[in-house]
Amino acid sequence: MKTTLHTEWTVADVCKGFTYNELEGKGLFGLDGRLTIQPEYQRHYIYNDGKRDVAVIESLLKGYPIGLIYFNRTSDGRYEVLDGQQRITSFGRFITGKFAIKDADGNVQYFLSLPKELQQKIMQSSLLIYECEGEEKEIKEWFKTINIVGIPLNEQELRNAIYSGEFVTAAKRVFSNSQNAEVQKWSHYVKGDVKRQEYLAEALKWVCVSKGITIDTYMSQHRRDTSIGELENYFRSVIDWVSTTFTMVERDMCGLEWGRLYETYHKTPYSINHVTERVLALQADESIKCPRNIYEYILGGEQDKSLLQIRLFEESTKRAAYTRQTEAAKEKGISNCPLCAIGDNANKTRIYKLNEMDADHVTAWSRGGATSIENCEMLCKTHNRSKGNK
Ligand SMILES: [Zn+2]
Repeated sequence: MKTTLHTEWTVADVCKGFTYNELEGKGLFGLDGRLTIQPEYQRHYIYNDGKRDVAVIESLLKGYPIGLIYFNRTSDGRYEVLDGQQRITSFGRFITGKFAIKDADGNVQYFLSLPKELQQKIMQSSLLIYECEGEEKEIKEWFKTINIVGIPLNEQELRNAIYSGEFVTAAKRVFSNSQNAEVQKWSHYVKGDVKRQEYLAEALKWVCVSKGITIDTYMSQHRRDTSIGELENYFRSVIDWVSTTFTMVERDMCGLEWGRLYETYHKTPYSINHVTERVLALQADESIKCPRNIYEYILGGEQDKSLLQIRLFEESTKRAAYTRQTEAAKEKGISNCPLCAIGDNANKTRIYKLNEMDADHVTAWSRGGATSIENCEMLCKTHNRSKGNK
């Protein structure tokens, strides 16, 4: 890969012909049409928070360097921003009046309201730009490296860079578009930031789980596809299935592994009324330590109790139950394990120590028995174990 350092380009040069697309949140072109500011493998503009964008302008006004910028020279002699897109878009937007800063006196100043000499200072700031020329693969590998500084690219942003092409462009139009009205509905089930590609990552994860392949494999297989039909259909099927199976929208549904649950259970019929009733009942059960897993537990026919992490009896509860039982047993001259006491065996009158016993639900938890002192009975370990197996 060949690199050339340019110091002759100023903010004014780079901003010549700057355009910004509000809808897509992208700075598009500069250098009088020769520069693509946001090639498709770049992420969205995320500096427009009134802090990072303002900081770029303040640096220019104070004559501070704003860091190295990297351009990729394409085979047709044009340029693409490899690194520096956020900074360029910030000053491009400022110069075209998209946002204001506050001056030393606290006054709001747009570019055009700044004194002429300050406007000049910004426009004439020279930039340090490395021009790189090389194989696409080489450039992208390297892009991966330089983006470790600043706000690092997340995994999906990196994959979009590595597998950039028609498929990524089409997928971003649906899954990375904050203007897409459906995002609101999806956000009940999918966690993350649309602009940071987290919905796209989830959609890809779901379809890849169903195929048993990695996201990288899927993206490289489909890289040149112009349609994302399969990805989109699968994602919509999962969302439709979740939202019809569970009629309620609960906050803890967001970010569950719906793709995996859909794969496992979408062929099982459910009574919606029964499901709703069971969700409500389990939500009210204070013994459940992991209420997020209620949905999976119900889908699985309420078999796998380990999902719920049922709360165990507290030590103090066990001790109280032990004392109560032991005192009563001693009076009657029988074992303090109620099951040993009714049997005809050597342990009929045995008084167990606390550490020889375990707590048991009198009314089983699965039949609605609470994890409380009223429903707690101490059994000897042998009886507790054999009861647990039934
Ligand atoms: Zn016993």
